[in-house]
Amino acid sequence: MSEVASPEIKICVYCGTNTGTSPAYMQIAHDLGTTMAQRGLGLVYGGGKLGLMGAVADAVLGAGGHVIGVIPEVLVRAEVGHTGLSQLEVAEDMHTRKARMAELADAFIALPGGFGTFEELLEVLTWNQLGFISKPVVMLDVDGFYAPMLEMFQHAVSAGFVRAEHAALAQRATTVEQALAFATAPAPPTVSKWDGRGADS
Ligand code: AMP
Repeated sequence: MSEVASPEIKICVYCGTNTGTSPAYMQIAHDLGTTMAQRGLGLVYGGGKLGLMGAVADAVLGAGGHVIGVIPEVLVRAEVGHTGLSQLEVAEDMHTRKARMAELADAFIALPGGFGTFEELLEVLTWNQLGFISKPVVMLDVDGFYAPMLEMFQHAVSAGFVRAEHAALAQRATTVEQALAFATAPAPPTVSKWDGRGADS
């Protein structure tokens, strides 16, 4: 465990346990972690050593920053729990892990990833939409990785399933600078999905 004090602002980064096929994915994970540490922003993440997850954590630590990992007991072995973090919390199960990460963090940035990343991203978007939390959510769209998902969000708006202001909760960034600017600003103002409206509105 490191001696670095827990920073005031902590950002949760969701990303793949794989490295992906483009070197740009590992590069952005490294750049994001390094810049966060340089700016005194703490990292909250899934606690593993693999893929982009390990890369972002190693970059924060390498630049002298603070990292809190939250990993469920069942995945300590599968995701190779990182042993060099500032703080590692072992959660009882997946749901406890995600709730704890969301509680610790002031904002969320999604890098490229797979189903686990998508699920985490969509969950915090949903929680913002329902008014359970009001914290910025950023999709770091490296090489257009998130373009199809953002298109799907717009499709859901056109089809009448998502309000435009809720789709706007997913803030698209293409650079680390932009992602951190969104993440450290207040979340976009929004209305709760149910505020003053019936279920069919
Ligand atoms: P992936 O993007 O699939 O490589 O997974 C990235 C992270 O998301 C891993 O730490 C997974 O444990 C985590 N994750 C969170 N919720 C889920 C879920 N419901 N299914 C699969 N992975 C999940």
